Amino acid sequence: MVNDFADARPVYIIDALDRIVFVNPAWSRFVAPARDQAPDLNGVIGRPIWNRIPDGVVRQLWELLYSRVRAIGGSVFVPMRVDRADERRLIDIELSPLSDGSIRHVCEPVWCEARPAVALLDPCYPRDARSLRSCMWCRRIQVRLGAWEEIEDAQQTLAIPADSTLPRLEPAACSSCKQSLLKTFPARVA
Ligand SMILES: [Zn+2]
Repeated sequence: MVNDFADARPVYIIDALDRIVFVNPAWSRFVAPARDQAPDLNGVIGRPIWNRIPDGVVRQLWELLYSRVRAIGGSVFVPMRVDRADERRLIDIELSPLSDGSIRHVCEPVWCEARPAVALLDPCYPRDARSLRSCMWCRRIQVRLGAWEEIEDAQQTLAIPADSTLPRLEPAACSSCKQSLLKTFPARVA
């Protein structure tokens, strides 16, 4: 854990009961909603990881990955977009089983780029009763059944004006991310 603490990559560990038992400073900076914002770590350590993961299909897919990592005893890599309003970010999360049923998550940054802020991704923006499905892995938005687009394109396609309120984003999994997650198995360790 000493090395994990100093790691420049965000690292967090859950125990066998899926409770967060360790996060490093890089993780705290990474999950802050804005750059240079002081992270709030109250209520992170000791709490179930499920407090941070939406119910439904998103949780089911994570549960599936965790059960495979624990049962097979090998690592998997999960690519994930973790955008901020003004920044696109792609990471690979490596899930590795530890001997006691814990799982270490190491977030390897793949790329990031700045962009004009997207109000739909601003957590402070007022929301109304409408909702849009947002894939928790690729961050695309469902524009109609079976069609998912990058958030800027979806705003155009759906003609969402910069209004005083916006639809809220409903966590979901698009079919291509779902398919690739269902096919994600750890390599068996000899
Ligand atoms: Zn997706």
